[in-house]
Amino acid sequence: MSFSAESLLWLLLPLAAASGWLIARLDARRQIRRQFDLPAAYFKGLNFLLNEQPDKAIEIFIKVLEVNSETVETHLALGNLFRRRGEVERAIRIHQNLIARPTLDRDQRSYALLELGQDYFKAGLFDRAENLFLELAEVRAHSEQALRLLINIYQQEKEWEKAIQTSRKLARISGKPMDDVIAQYYCELAAEALAKHNLSAAREHARKAFSADGKCVRASILLGDIEAEEGRYREAIRAWQRVEEQDAHYFGEVAHRIADAYRRLDDEQGLYQFFAGALKRHAGVALTLTFADIIKQREGLKAAEDFVVDWLRTHPNVHGLHRLLELNLEQAEGAAKEDLTLLKGIIEELREQHQGYACQECGFKGRSVHWQCPGCARWNTVKPVVEENVRLAKAAS
Ligand SMILES: [Zn+2]
Repeated sequence: MSFSAESLLWLLLPLAAASGWLIARLDARRQIRRQFDLPAAYFKGLNFLLNEQPDKAIEIFIKVLEVNSETVETHLALGNLFRRRGEVERAIRIHQNLIARPTLDRDQRSYALLELGQDYFKAGLFDRAENLFLELAEVRAHSEQALRLLINIYQQEKEWEKAIQTSRKLARISGKPMDDVIAQYYCELAAEALAKHNLSAAREHARKAFSADGKCVRASILLGDIEAEEGRYREAIRAWQRVEEQDAHYFGEVAHRIADAYRRLDDEQGLYQFFAGALKRHAGVALTLTFADIIKQREGLKAAEDFVVDWLRTHPNVHGLHRLLELNLEQAEGAAKEDLTLLKGIIEELREQHQGYACQECGFKGRSVHWQCPGCARWNTVKPVVEENVRLAKAAS
């Protein structure tokens, strides 16, 4: 393990600050002794650090900074620093050393336990971390943070029922509603049940997701998927249609599902009417492209081309251009086909930049929908990117 000059500085800063403060408070006799002792220990510790022996350095520093009410903060800072650097075992040693001291007051002990729990979490020792946080959740001063950390564990372990209970408790204590996140936990349970073809359980979880958050888009999508799995395509369409009222940005997520369900019902007329109507309310890309497919099936290639060209006149955008090239390619031959293929390749690269999903909190970008952001672990922050040059017309405004 190597220490850079910068990390060395970071390590010494709290020590320097604490020792300076200590010295100022001590009487003259002890001051002389401390001034004499501290540099010697410092240099010894420094030497170990420079020789890449941080464990020995920690021992020295722990000895120099005897645990008392004035140096607890420094120990905590040091432990925290090691955890942040990913040196979890060292952080655990520092925090365990701290907790073993009988001189700590109750508050300091709780704080050190909270830190130790986070070390365990980072080390993947979830059971130990959970036990500590459960204990701390009962200590009023730390309960909010302990509950948050417990939720992290349950998410990591996919223990959604526990995550729900703990979130309800946290919402009560903090006064901040967590209904949208709780709905996501129910959706996780519904998705798990659906994957196992346990449709009644899946339906029950989706229903609970709705009662937690009536605007939960994912619950509508899941409920539609459950209905479709049972062959109830009309009900599936109804569930997916709810997405339009909940958050029209996600309408593209269900457009192909709705189209597919109408086709399974062999209801070409219903399919056409629904998308013609939806298109009047919204000008989203996925919706328009789905409608272009419907026109192609219904009226042929030429009609679909005309539709896309009309769309491009009012809303110039790469997605429409790409579809137009695809339609043209279907009837092109020889050199024209080669040119069009080349052009399509270029447009595809452009299109990549204008589609996908982005987290509104941390900027994470992805190709598929994520209900929990893989970047910052927040829920409901990854949204479909609203395509450039294509406005989302306001429904019924
Ligand atoms: Zn994020």
